[in-house]
Amino acid sequence: MVKFPSMKDKNLELSGKVVLLREDMNVPIDESGLITDDSRIQEALTTIRYLVQKGARTVVMTHIGRPGGKVVENLRTEAVATRLSILLKHEVKALRGYVGSEVEDAVKRMKDGEILFLENLRFQPGEEANDDDFARKLAALGNFYVNDAFAVSHRANASVAAITEHIPSYAGLLLEKEIKVLAAALEKPKRPFIVILGGAKVSDKIGLIRNLASKADKILIGGAMMFTFYKSRGFDVAASKFEPDKVSAADDLLNEFGDKIMLPVDVVVAEKFANDSRVEVVVAAEIPKGWMGLDIGPDTVERFRREISEAQTIIWNGPLGVFEFSSFAGGTFAVANAVASMTGKATTVIGGGDTLSAVEKAGLKGKFSHSSTGGGAMLEFLEGKELPGVVALTSSMP
Ligand code: AMP
Repeated sequence: MVKFPSMKDKNLELSGKVVLLREDMNVPIDESGLITDDSRIQEALTTIRYLVQKGARTVVMTHIGRPGGKVVENLRTEAVATRLSILLKHEVKALRGYVGSEVEDAVKRMKDGEILFLENLRFQPGEEANDDDFARKLAALGNFYVNDAFAVSHRANASVAAITEHIPSYAGLLLEKEIKVLAAALEKPKRPFIVILGGAKVSDKIGLIRNLASKADKILIGGAMMFTFYKSRGFDVAASKFEPDKVSAADDLLNEFGDKIMLPVDVVVAEKFANDSRVEVVVAAEIPKGWMGLDIGPDTVERFRREISEAQTIIWNGPLGVFEFSSFAGGTFAVANAVASMTGKATTVIGGGDTLSAVEKAGLKGKFSHSSTGGGAMLEFLEGKELPGVVALTSSMP
């Protein structure tokens, strides 16, 4: 099990201390500046409430979107700070910077229990470059650093990795929970342990499938990546999406772990990539010329349901079809329902932006043992990779 210093450490006196708290509040914001989903702000509340209750002076940091090292008006943290303030019922002051005398003065004036919010870290090129100078300046603002941003811990960014070289650093409650749940599932899963993988690309999941195949009892595969596997077995996938340069990797996986990998037996195919397309259900090996597979078929759903109903540990990442179109959401929603119905009887862990949004669309938000805030971070952790943000904590100063 990964060990890192925890902010709940009894010897850590937080009262009167300035705590730099890195959260991932990278929420979607529409053109009018409105936050369309505040789940990531809500997930951070437990840690922030804990710090406030302990009398810490909390300085929240996050990135939003991909401003690429320059100021983008629509991506300021102000809207996020306001939403946080409403959810907490506690004043949260948003600043327009992160370093410099104005910020230093504002931090110096803080009283116990107060909360400040720094500007979008990615307005500063040093953030994504893991720049040590930027990290040192951030660190100089506080007494302690807390990383609670699991979803960005696979990135070596200044406020995630380099900062830990300059200030005593701890894991936040959310980060701890995320790692604990995933590590438990990976290291000592109750069996049967099944993993359900979907999404568009197999390329980002090859290492993951390899690592999980030695640990899980079954890996259920849907989404467009099934077609790369089919292609490797010589099937004609017609106009379905697949990755030509990953066919041989898919072939290797099937040769090595064929007894564990479950591919769909039937697919919902469409004449064109549109919700109002003509659709058919065909066996996987018989996709008509020019048609494309956009969802798993009903026989596959039944087989997947059976596996899910017998499992004790279930991890799911990636939609099984083009769930954004109602005509091809059936497989994803059926699997979502099947997994949710196991919560309580089995450990059910889901993650990935698309999976969470599919689950919300299906009216199943909150119906799982754990919904990870991390997509890429979750996949890399399950792949067995070390996350820079977590490694930085384990090797930092305290
Ligand atoms: P990823 O980013 O790899 O998790 O992929 C998520 C995307 O995969 C979603 O937007 C789905 O619409 C898409 N997807 C799932 N199944 C298919 C499919 N059979 N054909 C094309 N796209 C798909």
